[in-house]
Amino acid sequence: MNYYAQPIAKLINELSKLPGIGNKTAQRLAFFIVNMPKDQAKDLTEAIGGVKETIGLCTICGNLTDKDPCSICSSHRRDRSVICVVKDPRDVVAMEKMQEYNGLYHVLHGAISPMQGIGPDDIRIKELLSRLEDDELKEVILATNPDVEGEATAMYIARLIKPLGILTTRIAHGIPVGGDLEYADQITLQKSFEGRREV
Ligand SMILES: [Zn+2]
Repeated sequence: MNYYAQPIAKLINELSKLPGIGNKTAQRLAFFIVNMPKDQAKDLTEAIGGVKETIGLCTICGNLTDKDPCSICSSHRRDRSVICVVKDPRDVVAMEKMQEYNGLYHVLHGAISPMQGIGPDDIRIKELLSRLEDDELKEVILATNPDVEGEATAMYIARLIKPLGILTTRIAHGIPVGGDLEYADQITLQKSFEGRREV
């Protein structure tokens, strides 16, 4: 038996599918939305519809973008001699907030994890290799997370890139092992970045 009118039950059900939202929070949010001014609710639905319609992956770096190539790949102010390889689009945001790095990015959209059946072909490694033919490129920084999967991914990529004569570096362990690039504070991230070493 359902205690809520069907549209409210549906809203609670949809909200509870979001990460970190349990049933109680979903109920609270649903009632908040029910009591919202119509305009505000319309803005919310339009914002959700908008990202689904306009946001895609940059065909060069794989970052989330509303235009292709993304603003970083198409910028003339960025240093094209260096590519920083990260796991996830949120890592690009963390790096950009640091305001120290002015090169390009490559987003892998995952990490190699035999336990979860994720192999090198399941993440954007092929796309990275195809970018290495650019003569301007001098360094690839491997900024995957310092956990088991991130290290395995970095080592796998390093083995592919080193024979090509491109400097390959790994960010230092300023970030605690098992930590997440996205949640590192700016100073920690900056230190681990400055302390990067050739692999
Ligand atoms: Zn891009």
